[in-house]
Amino acid sequence: MFYPHLFKPLELGFTTLKNRVVMGSMHTGLEEEKRGHTRLAAFYAERARGGVGLIITGGYAPNFCGRVHPYASQLSFPWQIRGHRKITEAVHRESGKICLQILHTGRYAYHPLARSASSSKSPISPFKARGMFHWEVKKTIWDYAHCARLAQQAGYDGVEVMGSEGYLINQFLMQKTNWRQDEYGGTYAKRMKFPLDIVRAIKKKCGDHFILIFRLSMLDLVKRGSTWGEVVLLAKALEKAGVTIINTGIGQHECRVPTIATMVPRAAFTWVTEKMKKEVSLPLITTNRINTPEMAEQVLAAGQADMVSMARPFLADAEFVNKAAAGKAAEINTCIACNQACLDHIFKRQISSCLVNPKACHETYYNALDAEQRAQTTKNTKNAKNTKNIKNIKNKKKGKLLAVIGAGPAGISFALEAARAGHKITLFESAPEIGGQFNIAKEIPGKEEFSETLRYFKTQIALLGIELKLNTRASVAELQKSSFDEFIFATGVTPNIPTIPGIENKIVLTYQDVLTHKKVVGKKVAIIGAGGIGFDTATFLAHDPAHLATSLDKAAFFREWGVDPDYREAGALIYQKQTPVGPREIYLLQRKASRPGLNLGKTTGWIHRASLKDKGVHMLAAVEYLRIDDGGLHINIDGEERYLEVEHIVLCSGQNSQTTVHTTMKNTDARPCHLIGGAFKAAEIDAKEAIKQGLDLAYSI
Ligand code: NAP
Ligand code: SF4
Repeated sequence: MFYPHLFKPLELGFTTLKNRVVMGSMHTGLEEEKRGHTRLAAFYAERARGGVGLIITGGYAPNFCGRVHPYASQLSFPWQIRGHRKITEAVHRESGKICLQILHTGRYAYHPLARSASSSKSPISPFKARGMFHWEVKKTIWDYAHCARLAQQAGYDGVEVMGSEGYLINQFLMQKTNWRQDEYGGTYAKRMKFPLDIVRAIKKKCGDHFILIFRLSMLDLVKRGSTWGEVVLLAKALEKAGVTIINTGIGQHECRVPTIATMVPRAAFTWVTEKMKKEVSLPLITTNRINTPEMAEQVLAAGQADMVSMARPFLADAEFVNKAAAGKAAEINTCIACNQACLDHIFKRQISSCLVNPKACHETYYNALDAEQRAQTTKNTKNAKNTKNIKNIKNKKKGKLLAVIGAGPAGISFALEAARAGHKITLFESAPEIGGQFNIAKEIPGKEEFSETLRYFKTQIALLGIELKLNTRASVAELQKSSFDEFIFATGVTPNIPTIPGIENKIVLTYQDVLTHKKVVGKKVAIIGAGGIGFDTATFLAHDPAHLATSLDKAAFFREWGVDPDYREAGALIYQKQTPVGPREIYLLQRKASRPGLNLGKTTGWIHRASLKDKGVHMLAAVEYLRIDDGGLHINIDGEERYLEVEHIVLCSGQNSQTTVHTTMKNTDARPCHLIGGAFKAAEIDAKEAIKQGLDLAYSI
């Protein structure tokens, strides 16, 4: 048996979970959408069919004040049960189990009715929360229990009470946000009365045969957060109060330590769940940056936890568990923790999805297309003789012969989906390996996860029988002579060379020279362009290759971000962060007057900015590039001329599309020619858009 610890059932007394995998709570944005229940039912059912032991939904507020924003999800009324039944029935049909998460945002609410333990304003909401009156606390406890009871009536197998990440319960627990003088404030015993009363109220209303998970903030990672002693005290009290499982909460939304982004080492925080295992005997779930079955198995085998929660990995691949069970881990589309299509979307109030799997959260749409395609194929097979458009039908029956030129994310995404639809694909790549811009990304310290996508691509290319021609630049003459039915050009981009006097100087390199061709870069360097690639290049150059990247070295990561794994202080922070001194002096420049890095990912941009600042990178905005000479770069900032004496200048000033072959083919050949990815639109196209474009073209061809 593969992964014996992962696939060991967990007996809870009144019910059994078939394995140790929890799909952790994720808000998808579908909760508030029209037809949201139907879409969520399809989303969760696919994950249940994929073998997940227990699913936890995104957070639902127990009352209006607890909503994330005025239009956010809430479960408080009996009429809402019907919609939720669609979800629970769909999951149960696939032999899955599902719990509803109850989340009250407290002072994180993005609306004027925000309520908290005491009146205060969080750094992440413009609205100041009012401290609850005593009767409001009592009413809120009742609302939690009522919400749980409605969930039970809707067929959920249990609920998770969100007690971490800085939300309301956390706000009651911490001295820094709770200075009440009634029975819910003061000593820790009083501050923890709020969550305990909630748990008791839910138990009373829903009985013992209903899973009750408490997400306990084991590591606040904020100043004046809980101490370890307090966390243990609450865990023991929760166990006594009858909680079924304790889930691990790490950090808060306002904390300045990355906890789930790609530069966080895998399983970086499982040590805290392990520490708790010595204190309580109920099952514990561990979480954060676990994205492969090997890692999950390792954590369980080491006895660090009883279950492993993964959330984003199930956006990336609904079949994660089944593939692991079948020993096909190499076929898993691994979550690379980029946050670009999931959390970044949620924070922009868009439907969540996944960079490496754009079908996520759009199951009803793509499933309908699949069904249409199947029906069409069957109909075509039956009616082939009577139909005028015989060529298309033949093509549908046999599959078209398609040439994909360029094996970057867009080209591969197209190739995989088109091959799945039955087309015969030949994939041309001029480089010796597939991956395009992903090969650049994987070189950046902290972005090692990108190589997982390349592994997935390679595995699928082989499995789907795609003919891969590496080191092959498809020429116009060759394509014209070929028998392909259609051509897909995913020929990517070339670095944009700005017109600055002296740009041809030998001290000027492109980001490809540095990241792909590994040209040696001197001790003083200026980077022109502070977009995504400029930041990546700065990160690469600021890193000393003699040291392991912090994403691969937990101790270095904790030192760099000031986390204390010995948990000596409240919140487990140490205040003297130790950032390793970089091997170079770096200037990161842009012409815009805005703050450099403003267009980076919503949930990860701050990490890149903070990390480079800590490493002493000089970030300059509103720069005018005057000229380049052998000794460096002449610039003008705010009317003042400056000379940056540097050994090299690296261009990260955007890209241009490579479209020559496409244009010639389009003008000389009657067969359809399609253009996708960076070749279609170089400006600001990213992997998320490129992969989705490839997928959507495959569905339309
Ligand atoms: P980008 O984000 O558009 O940045 C291009 C940079 O070049 C800007 O800072 C721009 O700033 C500068 N620039 C543009 N034209 C210039 C010119 N003629 N002369 C001097 N400077 C010029 O593009 P990118 O960095 O090439 O990245 C490509 C895509 O990949 C983007 O969509 C990006 O979001 C994505 N990506 C994201 C990440 C990440 O989020 N970590 C990492 C890598 C790539 P000024 O015009 O102000 O000078
Ligand atoms: Fe993971 Fe990125 Fe997909 Fe989010 S968008 S699920 S972080 S791969």
